[in-house]
Amino acid sequence: MVLDIVKLGEDILRQKAEPVAEVNDEIRKLAEDMFDTMIEADGVGLAGPQVGKNLRMFVLIADDDVRRVFINPQIIKTSEELGDYDEGCLSIPQVYETIRRPVRVTVQALNENGKPFTLDADGLLARIIQHEYDHLDGIVFIDRGDKEFAEKTTAQFKKRMERAEQKRKEKEAKARKIAAKIAAKEAKKSK
Ligand SMILES: [Zn+2]
Repeated sequence: MVLDIVKLGEDILRQKAEPVAEVNDEIRKLAEDMFDTMIEADGVGLAGPQVGKNLRMFVLIADDDVRRVFINPQIIKTSEELGDYDEGCLSIPQVYETIRRPVRVTVQALNENGKPFTLDADGLLARIIQHEYDHLDGIVFIDRGDKEFAEKTTAQFKKRMERAEQKRKEKEAKARKIAAKIAAKEAKKSK
């Protein structure tokens, strides 16, 4: 099932996510839905907060095409060597920036069966792990880039969200008006 993707401006993207208490069918279903959502949106990684779940888990598919689920992950080692890569985010559509991060990481997590694993990652895989891991701490990739660009982008998305909220309210008011009209007509008829 494809879920709605939360966009920059929503509070949940700025919160520290809670550990998953138990890896059960509900969590496995959520991971499946997150894969569906990510693939539909043409992404390579997706974290719990991005689908409105305040949980420390993310899914990804790197260039080896393997579906990986990380639950309660911990990055236990990062390389001193850094590298640049153009990042984007499904929660910040159409925004890209070159971000510098460690090129290798070691991560520990539980998989979708609740089994612990340790993974040494480099290349794109290491990049996605760090990007998604940040989401669990309320950090988005532009926070790690140019400060001015981050502020501008944040303001832009906030405005966009306010406009959408305004539109939704107008639509609601219109629907209420119509409903009231219908109710008035019905009342007349029954007299
Ligand atoms: Zn992201």
